[in-house]
Amino acid sequence: MKNFDIAIIGGGILGTTISYWISNLYDLNICVIDKEFDVAKHTSGRNTGVVHTPFYLDPEKKKIFAKSAHISHDLWKTVAIQTQSPWMDVGTIEVAMDDLQHKTLEKYQKWGIQNGVSEDSLLLLDSNELKQKEKNLQCHSGLLCRNDVSTDYSKLTKEIKNISIKNSVEFIFQKNVKSFQQKNDAIQIDFTDNSSIECNYLINCSGGNSLDIAKQFDLFESYSDLHFRGEYWIADSKYADIVKTNIYSVARHPEFPFLDPHWIKRANGTTEIGPNAVPVPTPETYDGFVTDIPSAVSKLGDILTGGAKKLFFNPDFLSLITHEFRSSISKDAMVERVMNFIPSLKSEYFSRKGTAGIRTPVISPDGNFIPDVMEREGHNSFHIVNYNSPGATGAPAYSALVVKKLQNKGILNNPKTQKNSLWNFNSIIEQI
Ligand SMILES: Cc1cc2nc3c(=O)[nH]c(=O)nc-3n(C[C@H](O)[C@H](O)[C@H](O)COP(=O)(O)OP(=O)(O)OC[C@H]3O[C@@H](n4cnc5c(N)ncnc54)[C@H](O)[C@@H]3O)c2cc1C
Repeated sequence: MKNFDIAIIGGGILGTTISYWISNLYDLNICVIDKEFDVAKHTSGRNTGVVHTPFYLDPEKKKIFAKSAHISHDLWKTVAIQTQSPWMDVGTIEVAMDDLQHKTLEKYQKWGIQNGVSEDSLLLLDSNELKQKEKNLQCHSGLLCRNDVSTDYSKLTKEIKNISIKNSVEFIFQKNVKSFQQKNDAIQIDFTDNSSIECNYLINCSGGNSLDIAKQFDLFESYSDLHFRGEYWIADSKYADIVKTNIYSVARHPEFPFLDPHWIKRANGTTEIGPNAVPVPTPETYDGFVTDIPSAVSKLGDILTGGAKKLFFNPDFLSLITHEFRSSISKDAMVERVMNFIPSLKSEYFSRKGTAGIRTPVISPDGNFIPDVMEREGHNSFHIVNYNSPGATGAPAYSALVVKKLQNKGILNNPKTQKNSLWNFNSIIEQI
């Protein structure tokens, strides 16, 4: 049986950037396992593609996401330039529809500065100033963030995979992890095709399956998760430029981790509206509502017994979910939500659906969404759950932080040199 020093489960943007750092700093025998035939086949290749500036993230409650996103902007830019990957300086306007929402924009401006964003890249504009910039936009006011970029995270993940391979990481594709056996100080990883490998240390960053895998190690036992599909509609090219900036709106329910659908300028030149947030039974239910009955029943069991049950007694959550379902069943309902701030839109401007992606927020035992990423250590394993938006933006810095934590725990030693200089480990750790 093949043995690795470190096995990483999940070839998403997180597992791939972690493999980059470890292989960049150490000469270890590392593998990344994914059940698909390449990296970034799930959330990392099915997102909005925005390199987010963390102005909308609470610096206390979402500290790791905010810091990681801020530091990683320039790290991704370096990769995009070196690999000729898409990097479109599009900017974002976060719009407020009334005085109350305007106060949220003022708070966002302060949060942005606390998170390290420079003052001159966050401008509060009134409706007249915004009309001069975007004549089809209608709102009370907006926060213009010039730094936001559109990219292709699937391409960026593949570029990092290529560097990891040069650093001798083995990518093991089309192997679906089923279970684990603790063998003295090693872990045997069993796949659904009945093959197995062994590793001395395991890192679980398997996205929508991370919590379930962590639970096999008796971790996060009283936590549950829910899966929410984000759907998009693509604007016909004739209408793609009626607004030239990304438009986001102030969240109506800040306690829940979803925003109303946005107007998004994609790096490939298309414009889309989305995503909504429709509850689905598995992290891969990209169409329809129930594709896999056993998983749906098991998810229902989780909801009825875990912290998620409490959410279903929360009237605000139920009202939000009803709204989201409506916008999944009806294109008109989705377009209407964006028409709040771009009233000249019409449902017939959107004739094709975009690529849906699925978020998996984790819910605490008392029924609240966990705001930041969570980690737990097993005997010889490390587990990352709730790695949600803007996780693609923050991946280079956050994965460096994971490696630093493994150093602090004595699992990895302190290396003296880095093999190449795509990103500078020590300077990232100093900033985070
Ligand atoms: C709709 C949507 C829009 C978003 N927009 C943005 C955005 O604009 N900007 C931004 O920064 N972030 C965005 N995000 C968040 C971002 O995409 C995620 O935080 C990030 O991609 C998570 O990466 P990951 O590697 O943890 O997960 P994933 O990309 O899901 O990777 C996990 C991998 O694990 C593999 N895996 C799972 N189980 C197993 C198993 N049993 N055996 C083998 N392999 C397994 C899967 O195949 C998958 O490849 C968005 C997310 C969604 C859903």
